[in-house]
Amino acid sequence: MTSFSMHGVGVSSGIAIGHAHLISHALLEVVHFKIEASAIDEEIARFERAIGLVKHDLEQLKAQLPKNAPAELSAFINTHLAMLTDKSLSEAPKAIIRNELCNAEWALKQQMDDIVAQFDAIEDAYLRERKQDVVQVVERVIKVLLGRDQLAASEKKLQARQERAMILVAHDVSPADAIQFKHHQFAAFITDVGGVTSHTAILARSLNIPSIVALQRARDLINDGELMIVDGSEGVVIVNPDPEVLAEYQLKQNQWQLAQQKLQRIKTTKAVTVDGVAIDLLANIEVPDDVVAAKASGAVGVGLYRTEFLFMNRTEMPDEQEQFEAYKHVAEAMKGQPVTIRTLDIGADKQLNPDEVVTAINPALGLRAVRYCLAEPHIFHSQFRALLRASHYGQVKILIPMLSNLAELRQTKLLFARAKESLRQQGIPFDEQVPIGGMIEVPAAAINADAFAQELDFLSIGTNDLIQYTLAIDRADDAVAHLYNPLHPAVLRLIQMTIAAAAKYDKPVSVCGEMAGDIKLTRLLVGMGMRQLSMHPAHILSVKSQILQSEENVLAKQARKILSLNDLEKIDPLIKKLNGEVH
Ligand code: PEP
Ligand code: MG
Repeated sequence: MTSFSMHGVGVSSGIAIGHAHLISHALLEVVHFKIEASAIDEEIARFERAIGLVKHDLEQLKAQLPKNAPAELSAFINTHLAMLTDKSLSEAPKAIIRNELCNAEWALKQQMDDIVAQFDAIEDAYLRERKQDVVQVVERVIKVLLGRDQLAASEKKLQARQERAMILVAHDVSPADAIQFKHHQFAAFITDVGGVTSHTAILARSLNIPSIVALQRARDLINDGELMIVDGSEGVVIVNPDPEVLAEYQLKQNQWQLAQQKLQRIKTTKAVTVDGVAIDLLANIEVPDDVVAAKASGAVGVGLYRTEFLFMNRTEMPDEQEQFEAYKHVAEAMKGQPVTIRTLDIGADKQLNPDEVVTAINPALGLRAVRYCLAEPHIFHSQFRALLRASHYGQVKILIPMLSNLAELRQTKLLFARAKESLRQQGIPFDEQVPIGGMIEVPAAAINADAFAQELDFLSIGTNDLIQYTLAIDRADDAVAHLYNPLHPAVLRLIQMTIAAAAKYDKPVSVCGEMAGDIKLTRLLVGMGMRQLSMHPAHILSVKSQILQSEENVLAKQARKILSLNDLEKIDPLIKKLNGEVH
């Protein structure tokens, strides 16, 4: 058996080792045949029976959901039920059977292809991906039309294999199928299609099993029962691994599982140092569905919601209503916990339309973030209105990216006040006290942080850009990646200045760049006085574990010593000491 590996998009971390359980792809098995005019009624009745059976199955599934099942599961099933009973799926195929004298499977597949083509024309990436739901519902009906034997055989095979760890290999997996298989406790999911926001990915994340999507041909290349390794963190699948590779991954898996198990114990524990200093650990999110992971991680709020993903890969901007719905969804889902929403940070490595040629000589220093929004005030206006409207439904805070001078801030506040006034005049409710904060990610803003602290309600340090602009290193250029160092004394001093300015004016300050989720830097940041850290949800528990084992007054002393140094070579060993790596 030859060993080979495949690469996809890892959507849920962890390592699984097990045997492939291939799920058949019913849609590929649909054939086309003509029926006699006299058989039309019988064919339509067969179709109606299949729809009825699937409806019954889905309702049963919903009724049998375990109490501790993730809340989104019942929402998924409701969506599938709504699609199944929609006329476009439950009625239109009957007309096709009648008019084209074809079999029910074929008629349904034709209708599905039509619907999918309509979805493909939608510009919004999130909505476009929902076409998978239509495909999954149709698959269920086709499986019933083709006979349940296949499904039963698959179930039987699984029963026999229950003692072994199984990895589900499919073209796609519907959430309803996934829950049905849940009691078999798959060790991982891998699929040919899907994206980060696909329901399968969302489900895999909420079930906390490793998962990789977009593998393209896994279902074709992997044979049923083959041994395989799934590394969800790296997005790698290794089929028929050599004994050495297998041993290496077994070790990795054990270590990972042990660490995760231990960490889960502190999910609801407050992040407080040994000497009683509390640190808020918040989540960074990119799309509204990320709130599921944010909540599951034990985050006490959203510290950074990067709204630009709502604007990307499309030709039309999302209008106020579409934005409002996305922001409201997050605000409500966080149930009263703070949700910090950043206004559009577009430009540099984040282009609105990736096909557009960038003409700026130096886009990272060009019309980016707040500069772009001030140049296009109508975009800012509709985003402010959407954010303010959402503030009525939760604890929303607004964050302005890439400020470098006070004039920008004042202009921004003027537009903000205008958006408020327009809502007041229309009698649309919003939180009059919604706080407005600024990202400190340009060295000028850090050096002049006093001024920003005075005029803003809170500050948030964007260390990704602060490092890029301080050290003159393009964060996206791998040729200079080795020079990108958060511990450079100049970077640490700028962070220190920002913390001091915030303290002087009694304003909250956080770090929301990648530094916040790096456990090697947690103790340093806490020692420097940082009390709020916002990071990818996957890092929250390991950062919390660092905090629980630290004594703030010891960290503060050592941080002062580190801050007094101007030589990176002297800083490195002290960081190691701070982290307990050398004594
Ligand atoms: C940052 O610059 O640190 C930051 C959080 O923003 P982004 O990574 O989106 O630029
Ligand atoms: Mg930034």
